[in-house]
Amino acid sequence: MFKNEELQKAWRDITWPKSATELHVHLGGSVPLYRLWEIAVTRGIRGLGNGYEEFIDTLKRDGDRISSLDEYLEIYDRVELIQSGPHAVRESVIIAIHRAYLDGGTLITGQGGEHSQTAPLFTISRLELRFNPLKRTGAVFLKGEHAGLYDVDRIIQAAASAIADCQLGFKGKIQTGLLFCFGRDMTHEANCALAKKVRVWNEKESCIVGLDLAGPESSNSLSDQSERKKMQEIFDLAGPNLGRTIHVGETPHVDLDTFIKTVETLEPSRVAHPIVAVRSYREKGNADGLKVLQERKITCELCVQSNLLTGAVSSLEEYGAYIDIFDEFEIPYTFSTDAPSLQVTSLASELQLLFASGGITEEQILRALQVAEKSSFLPAAS
Ligand SMILES: [Zn+2]
Repeated sequence: MFKNEELQKAWRDITWPKSATELHVHLGGSVPLYRLWEIAVTRGIRGLGNGYEEFIDTLKRDGDRISSLDEYLEIYDRVELIQSGPHAVRESVIIAIHRAYLDGGTLITGQGGEHSQTAPLFTISRLELRFNPLKRTGAVFLKGEHAGLYDVDRIIQAAASAIADCQLGFKGKIQTGLLFCFGRDMTHEANCALAKKVRVWNEKESCIVGLDLAGPESSNSLSDQSERKKMQEIFDLAGPNLGRTIHVGETPHVDLDTFIKTVETLEPSRVAHPIVAVRSYREKGNADGLKVLQERKITCELCVQSNLLTGAVSSLEEYGAYIDIFDEFEIPYTFSTDAPSLQVTSLASELQLLFASGGITEEQILRALQVAEKSSFLPAAS
């Protein structure tokens, strides 16, 4: 794995902080595959394939079968169906928090997401978990167009109560915040319905900390001004007191102009996978996207394996070059796993992967961990 022996030694010599903050994790990608299987069997979900091995094989996101974001996201419908309803959401949130705390700092070695026997390098003590409650109502294939079997209020309440229980159980050693994702693949009406729910629940539950825009960029690139306006209405409708991050610029469906206009319209303080901005500079010398990030002091959420799997970034070498460009423009960035369980990875594994290729230094890693803590939507740790 390591490019040379010096890098291997340097990795061993890193002085890790005791705890870390992870900002970009989807609930759908956070339940280890074997646990997802258990939930599906318990609840009698149909269409699990020809048994456990086939289920694992189908859901695992690996480079042999995936080359685009659309292919990467294909499996989410199935996961969201398994996680539908208040009971499954509650269980999934509890498992996701445990996974972060116990395995976030370990180097993953097992096929089903089992961690190594060695001590964790650090503990995830602050976690931002994002999901779309409308896609947990049991009608995920309808993309929120029709109500599903389950009540969305019960789903939000189940997630919030799972967080409260974990907070008590862990004696505050892991703090979790919820981000709600609007869908590029959902209708305006469905996103509005979700925004109204978020506004109401935000007044009741302090664990709700932010908003996100997710889903395939091919469904709605927001290149059309009227679409951007509609999305702005949705974000505004959800309420003014929530942090804003958006997935934007991960695929060729979002060009640099659309990237800039989307950021200017939705005014996020963080963006996920802003690849088009950094690629436009590296390949064409166009720094317009990076300047917008720089001027607005926007933090970039980077997810190494996920970006490689979707083909957003073609190699670890390219990734390393992008990191240096962000530094050149003094644009803050953080590292996260995106979907640790579906990719069978952890934050520690992601950092090791990039470090082993020579794509990042110890100083850059430690700075990124500090940035994550500072740019979190969670209230400052007491
Ligand atoms: Zn994501």
